[in-house]
Amino acid sequence: MQSIEQFYPFLNQPFKAVITAHQKPDGDAMGSSLALYHFLKNLGHDVTVISPTNWASFLEWMPGTKEVIDFEDNREKAITIINEADYIFCLDFNILHRTKHLEPVIKESKAIRILIDHHQQPDTPSFGYGISDVLMSSTCEMIYNFIVQSGHSNLINLDIAACLYTGLMTDTGSFRFPSTTASVHKIVAHLKELGLKHSLIHESIYDNSTEGRLKFMGNAFLNRMTILPEYKTAIMAIPKTDIYKFELKTGDTEGLVNYLLSIEGIKLAAIVIDREEERKWSFRSKGNFDVNIFARTHFEGGGHANAAGGRSSKSVEETAEDFKTIIKEYKSQLTQLK
Ligand code: 5GP
Ligand code: MN
Repeated sequence: MQSIEQFYPFLNQPFKAVITAHQKPDGDAMGSSLALYHFLKNLGHDVTVISPTNWASFLEWMPGTKEVIDFEDNREKAITIINEADYIFCLDFNILHRTKHLEPVIKESKAIRILIDHHQQPDTPSFGYGISDVLMSSTCEMIYNFIVQSGHSNLINLDIAACLYTGLMTDTGSFRFPSTTASVHKIVAHLKELGLKHSLIHESIYDNSTEGRLKFMGNAFLNRMTILPEYKTAIMAIPKTDIYKFELKTGDTEGLVNYLLSIEGIKLAAIVIDREEERKWSFRSKGNFDVNIFARTHFEGGGHANAAGGRSSKSVEETAEDFKTIIKEYKSQLTQLK
């Protein structure tokens, strides 16, 4: 993989580009994709955002979402566009299987792949150009740097600012995680100077729950949560019946795992949710318990040191029992954590 700086000169020649991110794109994946989309369009390129799957309805307000193609809804069109592309920008993921059923299409395309991402252990040989930096708060921070460092900061308009702010805000837990550096605050200051209305974005993302979602959460805390104080761990297992009963939609379980970490003394939080084709794990930790390694070792996953995900093909009860057995190995590490 060549450095991203080596790609900058190509920004001046017209090209066809596809932008994609990981399946079930979150605020950072969607924010970075749409910010880059508006930027490349402003430069005069032919650009399409293709999401591997659908996304949460609380991201619908973002400028440009109406133009995003959901691969699962519109395969033919997406495949044609990918096959004609010169470049595929791969944002907020670093290994192609995170694009689910889009993976073979991306692999077959002759387009050059460009990586911009902040997760650990990137599969760099799969990309022609790119940047992978785990110290970055968000992919949106990296897209901001991409625009500024390629000499185009004058092209950052209010649409781009709103998209970038969304990923900066969601991936830093509203500017509270250790990844929230002075650079992050400087970027936000710049976006504010451009006229960004940040409180509207917080409302659009966080004050958009259905009644069912709150009832689901109440039920989950009451009936689906187990605290294992001897391991400083909290675990929640969500059966499919809950998803149906409370009529949950894509994105409705996002952020739930963080509540478990708000319990005093808890250092490791884990949630497993019974999804259509697999059991999806989310892990969060405080301090130096590395959930990226934990997820990679035991649950076919990965992510960041303090936030990672994984999967299992067992039943939700079985994989939750597996987890409770596995953490026994980590007792000393978990209890010695500061
Ligand atoms: P979440 O728990 O919010 O789904 O994911 C937490 C973090 O881990 C996110 O940055 C997400 O992109 C990453 N992640 C989630 N699932 C996986 C996975 O299966 N593999 C890898 N490599 N990363 C994941
Ligand atoms: Mn991200």
